[in-house]
Amino acid sequence: MNDLPRIGLGIDVHRLEPGRPCVLAGVAIDSPVGPIGHSDGDAVLHAVCDAVLGACGLDDLGTLFPDNAAANAGRASAEFCAATMQRVRGLRLCVWSLDVVLETNLPKLAPHRAAMRARLAELFGIALDRVNLKGKTGERVDAIGRGEAMRATAVALVGPA
Ligand code: MG
Repeated sequence: MNDLPRIGLGIDVHRLEPGRPCVLAGVAIDSPVGPIGHSDGDAVLHAVCDAVLGACGLDDLGTLFPDNAAANAGRASAEFCAATMQRVRGLRLCVWSLDVVLETNLPKLAPHRAAMRARLAELFGIALDRVNLKGKTGERVDAIGRGEAMRATAVALVGPA
């Protein structure tokens, strides 16, 4: 590994259903809808893990934690972050910055943004001012705008620890 920073991109989509638990960026949110997923369906953490893993040249999240493995059923995605960071540290790298866009009609994200941002900083071992998360409603366009699904897109900058 050389000492230059490297960037990674991660995207994750989950369908939404009324009455399901909703955990986003590792924060439990009181919401009328929640993601369908083999794990807890935390699209934000899945996208961020894939961005970080991609930047490190590592296998993606779906390869490391298959969605047909019983061990991953209902699993808290915070555990995927811990496993991701273990691999990052193993390469003597660390996350320098993260930026995330979460597109969803519901839940409304504004009341939860600060908590989600703080949890991301904690899970990926970086300062709060190096993490950001923006919410977009989807403007009633396509499945996301109609509230049928959510999509998280993340970029991560990784460099020497
Ligand atoms: Mg996912």
